[in-house]
Amino acid sequence: MKTKKYRDLVEQRTRQTLVSWSLQETVPEKEIYRFLHNLRGTAGTVGLDKVEGFAAGALLTFSDSSEREWSEAEWGNHLYPVLKLFVHTEPDGTALTPLGEFTVQGGVKQQYEILLIDDDVELVAFLRESLEKQAYYVSIALSAERGLKLFYESKPDMILLDILLPDLSGIDVLRQIIDKAKKERIPIIIISGEHAKDVQLYAYSLGVMDYVQKPVDIDLFLMLIKNRFELKREWQKTTVVDELTGAYNRKFFNQTLKRLVHDFNRSGRIFSVALLDLDHFKQVNDTYGHLMGDEVLQAFAMHVQRSIRVEDTFCRFGGEEFALFMPNTSAESATILLQRIHERFAANRFKAKNEPFSVTFSCGITEIRETQNNPELLIDEADKALYFSKNSGRNRTTLYSEQLPESRGESLLSVIIVDDDPLIRGIVTQHFNAWQPEDIARVKVTSYTSGRNFLQAPWYSPDERYVILLDGIMPDLDGLEVLEQIRRGYPEDNVLVIMLTGRNDQRDIIHALQLGADDYVIKPFHMPELFSRIERLAHRFLV
Ligand code: GH3
Ligand code: MG
Ligand code: MG
Repeated sequence: MKTKKYRDLVEQRTRQTLVSWSLQETVPEKEIYRFLHNLRGTAGTVGLDKVEGFAAGALLTFSDSSEREWSEAEWGNHLYPVLKLFVHTEPDGTALTPLGEFTVQGGVKQQYEILLIDDDVELVAFLRESLEKQAYYVSIALSAERGLKLFYESKPDMILLDILLPDLSGIDVLRQIIDKAKKERIPIIIISGEHAKDVQLYAYSLGVMDYVQKPVDIDLFLMLIKNRFELKREWQKTTVVDELTGAYNRKFFNQTLKRLVHDFNRSGRIFSVALLDLDHFKQVNDTYGHLMGDEVLQAFAMHVQRSIRVEDTFCRFGGEEFALFMPNTSAESATILLQRIHERFAANRFKAKNEPFSVTFSCGITEIRETQNNPELLIDEADKALYFSKNSGRNRTTLYSEQLPESRGESLLSVIIVDDDPLIRGIVTQHFNAWQPEDIARVKVTSYTSGRNFLQAPWYSPDERYVILLDGIMPDLDGLEVLEQIRRGYPEDNVLVIMLTGRNDQRDIIHALQLGADDYVIKPFHMPELFSRIERLAHRFLV
């Protein structure tokens, strides 16, 4: 992430503002104040420390409530010196200590994610800051219900759990997640003010890794976490099987794909690859619960594995997506095989709440040829075919052909910025206009200058997905009120909200999380941090 670009942008906007003012007879003091106020926040964020200091000093001269008009001779004295400060900035990288970069390589997270389930908000904010300094990514749940949801949706690598929670108790959460967590080697660490020995014994007997008592000694705690992750890393090196389903994992998928493509290029041995994705799986989770969802995943994997040959390789690609490699098999024969799997699996009856239900899946197939003999192109083709199956009614297999429609059409992500600071709006808009995530056809960026403008706009459509950046303090309508209205009026699953708050607004952060914000970022923030958080959140849509 190049922060220099943003510094240039801030400089450019500052120059433009001063030039346009110089063409006016006078400038209202209020406008100068607002400009400096914004400049201070943004300059700090992008690493222009001298400019930030300048703006802070100059702010003492101007007032938000004055009616005075300033001529160029007057304001120029105060403001023109700022232009010299832009040239003296530090070279890229030294002024900023960015958060550990978030990258996804071959679908594998490169940064460990820690889910923190605790209702003690001050502690949560403190832990988050401490953990992020170590380049972990932290997601937060203040309630058990939210914690459970995030456990399934954001797939954390470790869970920090408070034992006393407002809705369910931590012990209940523990009971619900412990088996899956054990299987998937997700360490659970209890942090608790509850020191009673029987509670601790009970937690350990259920299978928690560690029980840490509050108050937490942060240095010891960070070491503990580091060691737990080291263990996990070692284990990840050797494992190739997905724990939940018994299919091969993503790592093995990548290896197999590379090997088969290599074989083809060397000896002409063909193979077909199928991508399989369960239909409306979210509904299964929502209707029958995540545990039932897990059972369906297991049953599906077992079902496919029983239907294939020993030479075939079946992998869990991610969430509810799977891949099947079929060596020495043409796409036509592969399609026939898949057809049979479709019929048998759809006939399978699951039972929950005394109610039978069935599940289907969609599939896309392609076969390797001279013209697309590299891993990415191949998967891309299968993916297009899968997408076509989804769009033409699901529960079917599509064979890739060049005639399939090119675009993935409806997979659209909307990033919305609601902030009265034009610099923030400009920078964020520019960044996301250039952003092209792998799994999203199109990213649309819209910005609003105030909470009221935003709420009055017809921004929502049910089949789009949203990440909203919401400024905490805006002139007309407070960010928290806007958040409340978003949560009241729109489905939480489609609309993720990141609050932008001031450093001293602890209470606002607490309030925002309680009102259902998915994340928060403290101003002045580093742009790379903000972007990494948005991208991370947006990936929740892509499981
Ligand atoms: P579509 O037919 O378009 O594929 O709809 P869908 O609902 O299947 O697709 P979507 O990708 O929106 O939802 C996938 C869901 O799968 C979201 C996520 O919570 C769930 N999921 C991912 N991994 C797991 C898991 O390990 N266990 C359970 N129970 N659910 C999971
Ligand atoms: Mg699906
Ligand atoms: Mg999916």
